[in-house]
Amino acid sequence: MKDMNFLEMQKKFINPDVTANGDQRASVPLMKATTLWFNTGTLCNIECVNCYIESSPKNDSLVYITPDEVSDYLDQIDQREWATNEIAFTGGEPFLNPDMIEIARRCLERNYKVLILTNAMLPMMRKSVQNGLLDLRSKYNERLTLRVSLDHYTAKLHDTERGKGSYNITLNGMKWLRDKGFKMAIAGRTVWGDSDIDSRLGYAKLFNDNKFEIDANDPNVTVLFPEIDEKIDVPEITTECWGILNKSPKDVMCASSRMVVKRKGAKKPSVVACTLLPYSKEFEMGNSLEEAEVSVKLNHPHCAKFCVLGGASCSS
Ligand code: SF4
Ligand code: SF4
Repeated sequence: MKDMNFLEMQKKFINPDVTANGDQRASVPLMKATTLWFNTGTLCNIECVNCYIESSPKNDSLVYITPDEVSDYLDQIDQREWATNEIAFTGGEPFLNPDMIEIARRCLERNYKVLILTNAMLPMMRKSVQNGLLDLRSKYNERLTLRVSLDHYTAKLHDTERGKGSYNITLNGMKWLRDKGFKMAIAGRTVWGDSDIDSRLGYAKLFNDNKFEIDANDPNVTVLFPEIDEKIDVPEITTECWGILNKSPKDVMCASSRMVVKRKGAKKPSVVACTLLPYSKEFEMGNSLEEAEVSVKLNHPHCAKFCVLGGASCSS
């Protein structure tokens, strides 16, 4: 027999307008689209235990985005007069996309800040990619940031998520980035019960020991993500919640960003509400940025757990 908790959970997040209790569901308007994310494709060189997008060496459900497709969206930003100042890339592992350097170049040439999320492992360390990155760094260093996924500051816990030896491989990638003068940020996880203070102290020591110029106390530079556990019951967010929690819709990621994805078999890329919900049809908004200007109804447990209650943001 299923327990009460499970049955209660089943009633939630059904109606986009109304919660299970009949209250009006909260929604978030696109206020100022400062960041446009692109998913570069879901293929990854490794398969982590808790990858939120289920990337792996086999998962190609989101395929490689092309430079021309990215350029088309940059044109749309101009046409729609969005206030975008940052273009960000996530995967999979973005450096598996054979056009990642050219894509980043096109964004940098148009004066955007560029953020690339990477595990800093073999795909980034191939000679052709290193040479491409060095070329970009020499021209646009101040506007290019590599955000490296280092789940924990210890090898032991990082490797439980990513496989034995992966910590040292990533650290080697970071040392290469350090030696070549790239701007780095870190994405860590808070799944092992460390407090925020303890996590930041651990990263600070690691950065200091390795002379990484990364601020462990800046949450925009050392970004710590909570775990995604679909089985945990969360409350639905109503219009009343903003006042009760003393939060504003403008603090939620979908108030200031969208993500472009290209689904396998699709003729064109499409725009989704945020980086956290790449597969959910309900959060797909159409092919164009114009179609993506509508409000987002917070009809998913992630909206409650990560954004409204937990404060997660995938933006830099
Ligand atoms: S490296 Fe990142 S994208 Fe690849 S499997 Fe791990 S968490 Fe997912
Ligand atoms: S998960 Fe967060 S950013 Fe995504 S639609 Fe929900 S509230 Fe918005």
